[in-house]
Amino acid sequence: MPRPILATISIAAMRHNLSVARAHAPGRFAWAVVKADGYGHGLENALRGFADADGLALVEFDRASRLREAGWTKPLLMLEGAFDQADVAQAARQQLQLVVHEPRQLDWVERAPGEAVLDVVVKLNSGMNRLGFDRAAFRAAFERLRRLPAVRSVALMTHFADADRSGAAEAPLRRFEEAAQGLDAPRSLANSAAILSLPASHASAIRPGILLYGATPFDDRDARSLGLRAAMTLGSKLIAVQSVAPGEAVGYGSTFRAQRPMRIGIVACGYADGYPRHAPTGTPIAVDGRRTQTVGRVSMDMLAVDLGALPQAAPGAPVELWGDIVPIDEVASAAGTIGYELMCAVAPRVPRRALDD
Ligand SMILES: *Cc1c(COP(=O)(O)O)cnc(C)c1O
Repeated sequence: MPRPILATISIAAMRHNLSVARAHAPGRFAWAVVKADGYGHGLENALRGFADADGLALVEFDRASRLREAGWTKPLLMLEGAFDQADVAQAARQQLQLVVHEPRQLDWVERAPGEAVLDVVVKLNSGMNRLGFDRAAFRAAFERLRRLPAVRSVALMTHFADADRSGAAEAPLRRFEEAAQGLDAPRSLANSAAILSLPASHASAIRPGILLYGATPFDDRDARSLGLRAAMTLGSKLIAVQSVAPGEAVGYGSTFRAQRPMRIGIVACGYADGYPRHAPTGTPIAVDGRRTQTVGRVSMDMLAVDLGALPQAAPGAPVELWGDIVPIDEVASAAGTIGYELMCAVAPRVPRRALDD
């Protein structure tokens, strides 16, 4: 029998979350962001969940090939652009739109094969200082690309550093609008946080990522209140139950000591499955559909839970590490990280099963 751990991916939840993004930005072109194998949900699952998206956006050229082989004929956008000259040739062959954020990429596009037809998106650095041209270089790149015979279309984009903090994306938005002034081209700015909180940034095309998977981009607004549904349920089972006397410890390092007689459940899930090792005692978890909490250190293949409120729970009882009952964002917050990291970190040894409910 396989180890009981399983990531169940709800195609219906992904579809629903895409419709939430669309409802916030009606009529805009919607790129569903599927980098990192659909934020850890599996590329093929993302393809099914976002079949209605106008395009898919990612950063991996091998994955772009897989999407084309799987029959995706709508646009694909490479968010980091080309990494070398060969990527430009692949982009031409497979009709991948390329972000251009850096002078080397301009040169590669300029040297594209004679028969190439390319759609490119020039990126402005609006203050994040990660990728993108400054204002003058952005406008110069736009003009240079527009004159290249291989280039069929040029669009404009930027990415916000802190659209999740109220008001923080307004200055970068103005910077973008000022830099793009008078340039006749479609525009794309909004990630999940901006889609949900900054309508002025919706422009021509939106780029939802995290919200599509049912997690929140915000610290202070949870996914449920945003109308989102968890796309991933990480589930396992109890494989042992221990009765622990007062004063006894649980797990490596003996960091947790029982103050009273306790029933402790042992779950077949650990950090080698992608569960965060830094999740402290008290991290929410559900057993038999009811919320309880973890105790002690997370080990490689197991973790322990308090069964005090669950006297019936026995080995074989189902456990939800995160999902509908325990939002991934709550586990992330307890472990000092974000939902993005947890969903991307689910280990390859964890099988993913798609559910089209
Ligand atoms: C990852 C990414 C997004 C999606 O961001 P979320 O916060 O997950 O919505 C949008 N645009 C770019 C350029 C990205 O790299």
